[in-house]
Amino acid sequence: MENTNEMTIVFDSRPVNEGMARIAAASFCTQLNPTLEEVADLKTAVSEAVTNCIIHGYEGEVHKIRMDLKLKGREIFVDITDQGVGISDVKKAMEPLFTTGGEERAGLGFAVMQSFCDSVRVTSAVGRGTSIFVETIFQSRFKHVPELSRMGAKIQVDGKVAVIEGVEALTGAPV
Ligand code: ATP
Ligand code: MG
Repeated sequence: MENTNEMTIVFDSRPVNEGMARIAAASFCTQLNPTLEEVADLKTAVSEAVTNCIIHGYEGEVHKIRMDLKLKGREIFVDITDQGVGISDVKKAMEPLFTTGGEERAGLGFAVMQSFCDSVRVTSAVGRGTSIFVETIFQSRFKHVPELSRMGAKIQVDGKVAVIEGVEALTGAPV
């Protein structure tokens, strides 16, 4: 059986909703038992993408932002879309330090998303809007259990099932 789950939320491009969007994404992904660091990384990427829609996409006007989230196995896919001004040169826009936002912006939003997620893709059309698509594969929190690592256990997680290989007898292990 395919292990998937999906959620879509549509919200106003108000700065207050940036916090809501990152928390919504964080709560949605907790069913995969991610590490705190993995959740923090995802929240940061969502934050950057939503802020871009608010500031650049809609240039401060209030319109709708759509966030589609999908879990598949241990992967999360997040698609954040605005119907704002669009980007004429996506490659250029994604270069670190490139900004059209003036002194206030660092031009590092896409670079942050790329370093915090496994993959970032952007599609855009001038006058039609922009979609930022991020993808991350969550590892398992079990890999951080030191007792098991010392015993040389190899642990693989498939959905909710942890398969432990390489340990003969395991009692009281925190799995
Ligand atoms: P920072 O994120 O560091 O505050 P920034 O937003 O300018 O600065 P990036 O997030 O990397 O930096 O974005 C680079 C540029 O891409 C922006 O300055 C803007 O020109 C363009 N851009 C990004 N997202 C959008 C969007 N949703 N709609 C229109 N233009 C966008
Ligand atoms: Mg930005």
